[in-house]
Parts: sequence; structure tokens; C-alpha cells
Amino acid sequence: MSYPEDLPQISVVFIFVNEALSVILRSVHSVVNHTPSHLLKEIILVDDNSDNVELKFNLDQYVHKRYPGLVKIVRNNKREGLIRARIQGWKAATSPVVGFFDAHVEFNTGWAEPALTRIKEDRKRIILPAIDNIKYNTFEVQQYANAAHGYNWGLWCMYIIPPQDWLDKGDESAPIRTPAMIGCSFVVDREYFGEIGLLDPGMEVYGGENIELGMRVWQCGGSMEVLPCSRVAHIERTKKPYNNDIDYYAKRNALRAAEVWMDDFKSHVYMAWNIPMANPGVDFGDVSERIALRQRLQCRSFKWYLENVYPEMRVYNNTVTYGEVRNSKASGYCLDQGAEEDDKAILYPCHGMSSQVKGENPIMSEKPCTQRIFRRNEE
Ligand code: UDP
Ligand code: MN
Repeated sequence: MSYPEDLPQISVVFIFVNEALSVILRSVHSVVNHTPSHLLKEIILVDDNSDNVELKFNLDQYVHKRYPGLVKIVRNNKREGLIRARIQGWKAATSPVVGFFDAHVEFNTGWAEPALTRIKEDRKRIILPAIDNIKYNTFEVQQYANAAHGYNWGLWCMYIIPPQDWLDKGDESAPIRTPAMIGCSFVVDREYFGEIGLLDPGMEVYGGENIELGMRVWQCGGSMEVLPCSRVAHIERTKKPYNNDIDYYAKRNALRAAEVWMDDFKSHVYMAWNIPMANPGVDFGDVSERIALRQRLQCRSFKWYLENVYPEMRVYNNTVTYGEVRNSKASGYCLDQGAEEDDKAILYPCHGMSSQVKGENPIMSEKPCTQRIFRRNEE
């Protein structure tokens, strides 16, 4: 492939909290080594209030000495969560294009040029470099098959098979239309990102913002695509160096997205999390500014988005009710699924959101992006 000479410059934002210094530096070296220097305007490191001391003076000294003038460091003086940490990075960026990445990634050769070309052609495209895996215990890079990024009704993201027209074309270099993003890597026109409302700053800690941006960009006249020729590998870690209740925040943030963008389909999200719509018992904060944003941008309906961008999503439009069916004489018992062989309903001790077997959470069995479920093309 060849790309135009006069591509816009990019600012690369890495956010981190208590990441290993060596891993942050690998990400920095990798982007410097694999981006043409005239295109890389700056690197912005956003420290989301790490406690780890080596991420303070040592990091500062190292990057400023090694790459004088190239790296800006932004420090949050309280923990903001990944959503507002990315917004902080955007505020510090000055190039026409901004790329947002976790601070544990490696960039492949030629990752930037195709992404910048697609944005130069149309500033309303949000570009997702295709994700490969970095094995957390060996740092070996493992290539993943090309996929779009979808999600279930709990708004947990997962890789999905690319749209049929992409498969039919048989061109592995063609952009893949995607309904949402995994979130660890995306590239966007800086001003356009501001115009459409960045990420939802009312979201906390982790999760949901990646799906919300997908819905919003499509509903409000833009698009999102995975670019197979632009590749970035990401460490899938098994433990997170911040101890928040990820599940709770993913649920809370999902409800914000549902309330603002999903119209009547929001009931699917409540149903997936098995919470009542009237009194969900989850304080998802004030969404009035986001609703005003949707009105200001005159965005399309969720129905339009489902039909045109995420037709694979299964819709449940004849649900009468959902939740537990309890036995009134033995209130600890619920109607439940019997043995697989005879397929009969049984009484079973109520177990809420956990599953009958192994105490697994039924939504979590779809797994969050952290554990990146991968549905291969052949499945
Ligand atoms: N992060 C952050 N503040 C937080 C939580 C996470 O800045 O309160 C950052 C984290 O350092 C990482 C990114 O958000 O760069 C995504 O988190 P993580 O890698 O744990 O998620 P995963 O990629 O496993 O889904
Ligand atoms: Mn990550």
C-alpha cells in the first residue's frame, strides 16, 4: 500500500495507573520506533494518580533525557478513572489527530499511515488499529484474526465476526465496519472528537465508554472502523493494578449509555444485568448533559443504529417480564434450569446474578474486554 505524503500529525496519549515502568517505556519506545518522526508530534503520558514511586521522578527523568521535547506528562492529583484520564490526555494534545492507547502496547511497522490516511479522507471516522495480543508472561506477540468489536446487552465488549460484505469482498486490507470498540486503542481527529462530546465524563473507573462512543459516533453521523493494516498489540493482563469493583462500574456506566443512547432498547440492558428499570438501585449520576448533547447533534435513533450498524445483535421485543420467580412457600428457592439431559425446570436455591454452576456470573461468562472473548471466523 502507499499513502499520501502530507498526512496530518498525531499526538499519542498513553494513560496508566501503577503500570510497570518498563512496560510504559516499551510502549513509548515502540511508538517512536514505528511512527515516521515527521508524523509523531508528541507523546502524552497521563498518570492517573499512581502510587508507585518509580513512575514519578524516574519516569520524568528517563523520557525527557531520551526524547527531549517529545513527551508531556500529565499527572492527575486524584484517581479519575480511565474515561476522564483519556479526556485529560486529549486536553493536552495539540496535533490534528490524537491516538489513545493503554500504556502496555506495542506498535507494528506502518501502523500510523493507514489510520491517518483514513482520517484525512474523512474526519468523522474513528479508526481502531487491529489488536493483536502480547502474552503477559513472555511478551510474545500473537496475531489475532481480523474482527469487528461488538458487545452483548450487558454492554461488555467482545470480538465479533466482520460484516458479511467485508468477508465477501475478500480484501484483508479493507476497513472493517464496527459497531463499537474494545477501547485500548483508537485514533480520532482531535477537533471532531471534541465536537461529538469526547467520552462521557460522568462515567467512572472503567467500562462502557467504549460501547457508548461506538453508538454515539454512528448515531450522530460519523463512523467507526477497524483497520487491518494498522496493527497494535496489547497485553491482556489477568490482574489489574487497581482494585475497584470493575463489575459495578461497568454496570453503572452501561446504564448511563443505555439512558442516553438506546431509547426503548435500554430495557435490554436492565434485563441483561437483571435489575428493574423503575428502581435499579444503581446511582448512575446525572445524564442530562449527555441527553442535551444528543439533541444538539441531532442524532439518529438506536433502532436505526441497530438496523444499519449492528444487525447481528439479537433483539428481544416480546419480553413480558424478567427477574426471579420465587416459591412463596419456600422463599429461598427459585425456578431454575434443570439437568441438561431432560431439560426440565426445577426448584433451586436462588443465586441472583451468579450461575448455578461454579458460582459464575452469567454476564461475566461473556467476559469483559479484559479477557477478550474471541469468536473466530470458523465458529
Ligand atoms: N486506567 C486508568 N485509571 C483507572 C483504571 C484504568 O487510567 O482508574 C487505565 C489503565 O492504566 C489502562 C487503561 O486504563 O491503561 C485500561 O485499563 P486496563 O488495561 O486495566 O483494561 P483492559 O485493557 O484490561 O480492558
Ligand atoms: Mn489494557
